[in-house]
Amino acid sequence: DISQIQEHLARLAALDVDVVRVVYPDLIGTDRARDVLVEHLAGACEHGLAFCRAVYHTSPQGDVVPVEGGLDAGLPDIAVRPDLSTLRPLPWEPGVASCLGEVIDPATGQTVPESPRDLLRGVLDRFAQHGLVPVAGPELEYFLCEPDPGAPSGWRRYAEAPGNVYTAGRRGDPGGHLLRTLRHLRDLGLGVSMGNHEFSSGQFEINLTHSAALDAADRTFLFKAAIKELARAEGRLATFMAKPFNDEGGSGFHLHLSCLAGADGPNAFDDPSAPYGLSATARHAIAGVLAHAPALAALANPTVNSYKRFGPGTLAPWLIDWGLDNRSAMLRIPPERGAGTRFELRLGDAGANPYLLLAGTIAAALLGIRAGQEPPAPLEGYGYDTSRAAVLPMTLPAALDAFEADAELTDLLGKGFTASYLAYKRDEVARFHRHVTDWEFTEYAYHL
Ligand code: GLU
Ligand code: MG
Ligand code: MG
Repeated sequence: DISQIQEHLARLAALDVDVVRVVYPDLIGTDRARDVLVEHLAGACEHGLAFCRAVYHTSPQGDVVPVEGGLDAGLPDIAVRPDLSTLRPLPWEPGVASCLGEVIDPATGQTVPESPRDLLRGVLDRFAQHGLVPVAGPELEYFLCEPDPGAPSGWRRYAEAPGNVYTAGRRGDPGGHLLRTLRHLRDLGLGVSMGNHEFSSGQFEINLTHSAALDAADRTFLFKAAIKELARAEGRLATFMAKPFNDEGGSGFHLHLSCLAGADGPNAFDDPSAPYGLSATARHAIAGVLAHAPALAALANPTVNSYKRFGPGTLAPWLIDWGLDNRSAMLRIPPERGAGTRFELRLGDAGANPYLLLAGTIAAALLGIRAGQEPPAPLEGYGYDTSRAAVLPMTLPAALDAFEADAELTDLLGKGFTASYLAYKRDEVARFHRHVTDWEFTEYAYHL
């Protein structure tokens, strides 16, 4: 209401903020925004900001991709209403604060099915019917690149050569990127806890603290946008794509997930008297995630590039299995118990839309809990034994087919979302298949 808006405006004036960046996540998790002068903020709150109802290609040549109710309806408006309770001054951009926007179809006053934030809300509402509250802790990896006019892409990995996993300070990070980024993210209020150099040169990981699932997804969404923005401000490129380089590993989005029995309740995954200290709820949730993993891959591994990250010895899962403190398993149960009892889903890559990864994982867990599913015996030793466990779909088209075929999961996520997501992703696959890659020239041009 007006008095709350006045309070926020007074707060912004005190912080010398004169522009508010209103941001929402699109279907694939890209941040879409308009910068609003504060004198126009009250109007934006009343009517919502008009954006075109479309999902955009991520390629620079990109245009809009059909989603139901978008291109086919003549690209009508969606209204994005600033949620001023989420205002955060940008530490690196004086005078600017960002805030999340709520997406509404102005014709109906309702949410739109392609809004990933509303999709996650819907799944959480279903979960709450069982008296359970999911808590999520995200860990993401990414590569930092520097301009290289000689490279076909125009970019090379940052700090070529020196760093590998846990290399401290300037030896793996001569430009001080990680420290600067950590401090900015802290000042932005995103709840990051720590960061480190990852296995590959130019690759970093930053961990977010755990919190209720919607808040964790919001923070992860803003975190990815902030890291990309900070890198560009330095003339660099931060990428969360799954596997940017042939000669290095990929970037994971490891998702730690537990459940509370009620908002302030105890950890519902913990049961000291049960095998492995895992409650029946935890076992059913694990079984649900494993059972729906082929479909979940379509959300957790959303690009044609995603599937190049998997493989034996990569620490990126490839088999559908679980293990106790075993990083070669798709689902790892970290050793903590009590309040820290949780699973770590290692399936997702950093390119995943955090809202969709969380919604899909929580929906799969819910299906397992509803059905009382039991998981197989946990993996022992170093994994990658295909005689023991099923393999994930190994391409995006196969994962999209598995997703479409999973009626239980797509019912839970909604037919409108499923149709738009499949339309968008199948268009992406078709564009990829039409494109002639460097690999094809190298493979065929000399010998054929
Ligand atoms: N980079 C690996 C992945 O793609 C994970 C490495 C790690 O365990 O930190 O999931
Ligand atoms: Mg980690
Ligand atoms: Mg890592």
